[in-house]
Amino acid sequence: MRYVSTRGEAGSLAFDDVVLSGLARDGGLYVPEVWPQIPAEEIRSWAALDYPALAVNVMAPFMSGSCIGRERLFELVSRAYAGFRHRAVTPLSQLAVNDWLLELYHGPTLAFKDLALQCLGRLFDDILASRGERVTIVGATSGDTGSAAIEAVRDRENVRIFMLHPKGRVSEVQRRQMTSVMSQNVHNIAIEGNFDDCQALVKTLFNDLEFRDQVNLSAVNSINWARVMAQVVYYFHAALSLGGPDRPVAFSVPTGNFGDVFAGYVAARMGLPVDSLVVATNINDILARTLNTGAHTLGGVTPTISPSMDIQVSSNFERLLFDLYDRDGGAISKLMTELKDRKGFVLDQGILHRAAQIFRAERVDEDETRATMASVWRESGRLIDPHTAVGLAAARRRMVPGVPMVTLSTAHPAKFPDAVKEATGEYPQLPSALAGLLTRPERYDTLANDADALKSYILERGN
Ligand SMILES: *Cc1c(COP(=O)(O)O)cnc(C)c1O
Repeated sequence: MRYVSTRGEAGSLAFDDVVLSGLARDGGLYVPEVWPQIPAEEIRSWAALDYPALAVNVMAPFMSGSCIGRERLFELVSRAYAGFRHRAVTPLSQLAVNDWLLELYHGPTLAFKDLALQCLGRLFDDILASRGERVTIVGATSGDTGSAAIEAVRDRENVRIFMLHPKGRVSEVQRRQMTSVMSQNVHNIAIEGNFDDCQALVKTLFNDLEFRDQVNLSAVNSINWARVMAQVVYYFHAALSLGGPDRPVAFSVPTGNFGDVFAGYVAARMGLPVDSLVVATNINDILARTLNTGAHTLGGVTPTISPSMDIQVSSNFERLLFDLYDRDGGAISKLMTELKDRKGFVLDQGILHRAAQIFRAERVDEDETRATMASVWRESGRLIDPHTAVGLAAARRRMVPGVPMVTLSTAHPAKFPDAVKEATGEYPQLPSALAGLLTRPERYDTLANDADALKSYILERGN
């Protein structure tokens, strides 16, 4: 499988190179040259597989030509998910008729990002070892990516990681999950700015080709194709548990960077019958506005109780645009220039119509998010985190009679204890593996929102 850039000017790459390079050199994102097609009878034959075996079947078509063969992939994936606290890895639980939660928070850092990153860390390791190379990972996190990435690469020999988070804008649990890791190869940086500033800094470093080569820069945020790929698996897993491929299933996905919901789109493109994908945003609703009106205009970022979705620049949306524009890299390049220069662009009705064939979009405000947490607690004695609540509120507006609706439960409630307690009166307990987190020592530095300062910081810390 070869990969092409969404901006059409970077030349195609093989899987292993795409994993290591993250962002394409023309500023675009890599996507597979074609979507692998899985016939319904083959999907049906996967129904009895456990999670690692299913993951190999879903991911292998994207990895042809990789130094990691099928058997080795099975070993890596098995190890990646062995540490999850639930044996089904991503269990479903039922709230009402056709109303399901897909629990994606049983990994080491209690959020769905572990599903992809526990895999990616191991893919990295293998590919680097086979080449005798080392990389510097620089990432930006709105909260959950950071700890998941750090857990995935801590103490690995060929990788060092610099993780940027917006100072004071991630929850205490989120921050401590990153800053209490004392591994030598882990560097945490609080940036004086918001998440979009952090993300822009990362992009600036990637666009500095000299610096990029100097430190062998790499990315693990959701622009990395392998993350999207690993997330496709649980869409298959959930659908197969609910009667797929012989029965279409709908998904509601709390969305920020559009990576998770894009993985659902990939599953559909591969042949999984998906009735619809609900793009659920909080009040930072650029994606809901875009899909409902066509206007992709940047506003400010307003902090909410679902901070991992406090995003306006939604990187992975570019991957969808590439498909919607019939894979015309020039057209995407133009849109992205407009976004940069004029803070927005407008999609025409034809494009919106194509998106609407599968996507629905809903904005959920803070009151409704709290009310949803409260009603789930009242009705089923179950605590859900604020991101899940955004997804569930959106799901309930978009239920289709007779179609199972699966809301992706993206974080454990204990990751956002204050918001959960305020909405429900109940304080969620951390799983025992994380007890003690709130008293462990922390280590991080604070930097201004300045790319040059960041470059010096990284260079000063060797290679
Ligand atoms: C990252 C995150 C999201 C958003 O996922 P994207 O792939 O960025 O759309 C939603 N919920 C939680 C808990 C997250 O950590």
